[in-house]
Amino acid sequence: MNAKELFMNGEFIPADKGIISVRTHGFAYGTGCFEGIRGYWNEEEQQLYLFRLREHYERLLRSCKILSMSLPYSVEQLIEQSTELVRRNGQHEDVYLRPVAYKGDEIIGVKLHDLRDDYILTSEPLGNYVEITGLRCGVSSWRRIDDNAMPARAKICGSYVNAAFAKTEALQNGFDEAIMLTHEGNVSEGSAENIFLYTNGELVTPAPTENILLGITRDTVIKIAERELGIPTRERPVDRTELYLADEILLCGTGAQIAPVIEVDHRPVGSGKVGPVVRRLQEFYFDIVRGKHPEYSAQWCTPVYKK
Ligand code: PMP
Repeated sequence: MNAKELFMNGEFIPADKGIISVRTHGFAYGTGCFEGIRGYWNEEEQQLYLFRLREHYERLLRSCKILSMSLPYSVEQLIEQSTELVRRNGQHEDVYLRPVAYKGDEIIGVKLHDLRDDYILTSEPLGNYVEITGLRCGVSSWRRIDDNAMPARAKICGSYVNAAFAKTEALQNGFDEAIMLTHEGNVSEGSAENIFLYTNGELVTPAPTENILLGITRDTVIKIAERELGIPTRERPVDRTELYLADEILLCGTGAQIAPVIEVDHRPVGSGKVGPVVRRLQEFYFDIVRGKHPEYSAQWCTPVYKK
């Protein structure tokens, strides 16, 4: 069912009234930043949990800072608006929240400063974003944007043109998802996912300086791998050919969740089937996000409905 309401510049309004001008700066130039947040429905508890809201809004405010934007809300207010929107929509299913802060002026002129900052938040139902049973990936001919060109650590609207080039190329070449390299040729990330390799008994993931978005799911994987599986993660530069030799690979993100990779550039990852480490990480993840692990959910899962 489509959402009834959304939040726009301080007010909850009917969803069909959420309209911006064709002259909006953020629309023409991509001058905005956003988040993608998932909410998971827990059938037994009749509860909807929003996952790691605080970390998403802290990142949104960091993206705003990089873009010289300022929102008139604290993290607490952004959290409260989120739970209220889902309650107003009466959503009792898995949802996806999309906060967007953008330059709202209707002017012609490329710049970041002295512009009005607008804000919208929507919540809609969402199933899987990519397959979670085994992805076939291709290394992209498109390089990941560089920190000195368009900072990847901010979730900037316009940056997603770079991701779209890579994703379309991958799909049109018969793959499910792209893996992008940095300008130096190191592994960076997927089009909308971070990447982990399981190799020689440890997890390896590109370091924060490899032009990645510092993913919240990435952080979740690092923590559950260490605490629940006793597997440490090394954050370091990763060569392309390490992808061909890894025992297991996963892509992770709010949309993608934890998605095993079973093939890279037509070479099977390990045995070519989903491996035991990725499978266990995936199982833990899905239990945690649905609020089924009290020690994590107390900290990471915000309940929408009051009990
Ligand atoms: N990298 C990119 C480019 C992304 O768009 C995303 C999705 N937000 C991620 C990584 C994963 O980030 P997160 O786990 O915080 O959703």
